[in-house]
Amino acid sequence: MAEAVTAPAPAATAPNAAPSTAAAPRTERYPWLCPWTQQPSAPPSAANGDAPAAAASASAPTNNLRVLNSLTGEKVPFRPRNGRTVRWYTCGPTVYDVTHVGHASNYVSLDILRRILTDYFGYEVTLQMNVTDIDDKIIKRAAEAGEPFADLARRYEAAFFDDMRALGVRPPDLVTRVSEYVPDVIAYIEGIVGRGMAYAAGGSVYFDVDTFRGAGHHYAKLEPGSAGNAARLAEGEGGLDGLPAASVDASSDAAAAAAAATAARGAEKKSPSDWALWKASRPGEPFWESPWGPGRPGWHIECSAMASAELGGHIDIHTGGVDLKFPHHDNELAQAEAYHACPQWVDYFLHTGHLHIDGHKMSKSLKNFISIQSVLTRISSRQLRLFFLQHRYDAPTVYAESALAEVVNVDRALVDFFGAVKAALREAASAAAAPSTADGAGGLRPSAAASGVLAELGATRTAVRAALEDNFNTPAAFLALLALVKSVKGYLAAPGGGGVNAPVVRAAARYLTFMLRVLGLGGDAGEEIGYGGADGDAESAETVLTPILDALSAFRDSIRSAGREALASGGADGGDAAAATAAIKRILAACDEVRDTTLPPLGVRLEDRPDGRPSLWKLEDPAAWAAEAARLAAEEAAKAAAKAARAAEAAAKAAAELEAGRVPPADLFRGGEYAGKYGAFDADGLPTADAGGAELPKAARKRLAKARERQVKLHQKFLAAQPAGGGAP
Ligand SMILES: [Zn+2]
Repeated sequence: MAEAVTAPAPAATAPNAAPSTAAAPRTERYPWLCPWTQQPSAPPSAANGDAPAAAASASAPTNNLRVLNSLTGEKVPFRPRNGRTVRWYTCGPTVYDVTHVGHASNYVSLDILRRILTDYFGYEVTLQMNVTDIDDKIIKRAAEAGEPFADLARRYEAAFFDDMRALGVRPPDLVTRVSEYVPDVIAYIEGIVGRGMAYAAGGSVYFDVDTFRGAGHHYAKLEPGSAGNAARLAEGEGGLDGLPAASVDASSDAAAAAAAATAARGAEKKSPSDWALWKASRPGEPFWESPWGPGRPGWHIECSAMASAELGGHIDIHTGGVDLKFPHHDNELAQAEAYHACPQWVDYFLHTGHLHIDGHKMSKSLKNFISIQSVLTRISSRQLRLFFLQHRYDAPTVYAESALAEVVNVDRALVDFFGAVKAALREAASAAAAPSTADGAGGLRPSAAASGVLAELGATRTAVRAALEDNFNTPAAFLALLALVKSVKGYLAAPGGGGVNAPVVRAAARYLTFMLRVLGLGGDAGEEIGYGGADGDAESAETVLTPILDALSAFRDSIRSAGREALASGGADGGDAAAATAAIKRILAACDEVRDTTLPPLGVRLEDRPDGRPSLWKLEDPAAWAAEAARLAAEEAAKAAAKAARAAEAAAKAAAELEAGRVPPADLFRGGEYAGKYGAFDADGLPTADAGGAELPKAARKRLAKARERQVKLHQKFLAAQPAGGGAP
């Protein structure tokens, strides 16, 4: 069994202690870690055999980025071994089903981290991702569907990358499929066997945990407490161990067969902590020839082998979902460290938090997963990204439909904001081009309000940098950006004397644009290839359309103001006043139509403004407009339906009341609900005695007189409602 492995002791000093303070050497706490990945004051040095000689000076930090390293459970300074060059490996999908919102959370979060590293901090990142296309789940699914397993894997792989594209996730620099690396995997396993840290048994090959530890290596680095957890190890071994080979359906004998097969595998292992590097395939299962007979790679080995094949014997960053920590990532580390005979294969292990659905853990096995496709029918990928970046990548996130409405509003506010900024800058530009006025308004000196915006911009830059350096704290960074948006908006509404200061507004808007693009919210300029401009790139739509829209907007302004003036004067200059009025109304109706109906589908929104100021135009996504128009139309329809229902109810009530007045007051107590109750009546038809001839008491007669009075009024209403000369019955 596993030797006792204790969890790392709590930090003796603050993780971010200044280098000048004499902190205890932290290497004592994590003896299996290279010092510079856990010690703020000790960057890589030439003396360390693992680090390139030039690393110490080349990687002099230009930032204070600290990352939560799962190897220590603490935030540590990020210092790649080779300057700005970062080798990054991330675990990719097992392609046997559609991609769900939990995958979206993982891959969008990692995409945001990658963009921040490259586009903000300026690292040169090479990102490799694997596709697990040999796996027991794939084999099982394919057998159930009667489809060749490679076809099924390829189909879901294509769907995965379609979804990633839809989510705006930048493609990895390198994608590797295990099915194309089987010879590499075999050679890798042979290397581990050659070091005596793996052994063959029954056509399979197992990793030898005890020998690995005996050679001075550490297992399990990420989750020391889980080492030897047989249940979790079995989970990572795949689902086919216990299933009958040829027919993978669960028959009545399946349980017995499962128990037998699991027992057989268990008997092959020297220790329950060991796991399969190579699995012997049984008849009917896909197989590859190997020195140990026909079989296939175990799950964990592919990542170690493919990452080593492409990125080499050392990786700066390794990422994946938190549920992969053990056994998958711990086993990956052990395999690679055994193969490379090195103490540390990965310097920084970053894990994304789990996504919960309305408080429940989401998993495919629970069948409560929401596909990416279905989410993207409700909100845009930009809005979904807004949701994720408002949560820390490493924290558990609760996904709730109610939270989505909020990000739609935030998205809407940002679109409006940029539209308002562009309109203000256009206005400022045309004001600057106009002949100078006698009062000498304007000037370059910023107003107090403009200076305030500039100061706020500086403070925001500092706050955003501090947030991103703090383990990619995107929620804090985004809050700072939203605060700047609010300030600039306030400034545009009240710019103070001299009008809007265009350079200040432009500086703030450009910074916001840059940061939103860093977070992946804007278009991806990084996807363009080739020279700009002369290479044949079209000018942006906005550049082309601006003069046209300016002209159209001005034309409409003049028509509209003329129409309004004529209408106000009531056609007083003679001629047919009524016809003139009607024509003017048509002009105004046309003005409304171009604003409300014609332009929005073209992606143009016009807004009228008070006090004779020119109307405002904004370029806008026609699809967003259409969605909003549909929503408003649905609201209107619901309101109209409710109104109609209320009207129908009122009409029915009035009709019932009218019908109640049909009986003349004199006949009221002789029929209907009173039929047979009374035996004698006075001249007005009021009862004087009951059916048995007994005189009615005074109180009863009074009550009946009141009922008669009411009927007099109802009957009058009834008569009034009858057609003239129609004689009521
Ligand atoms: Zn992996």
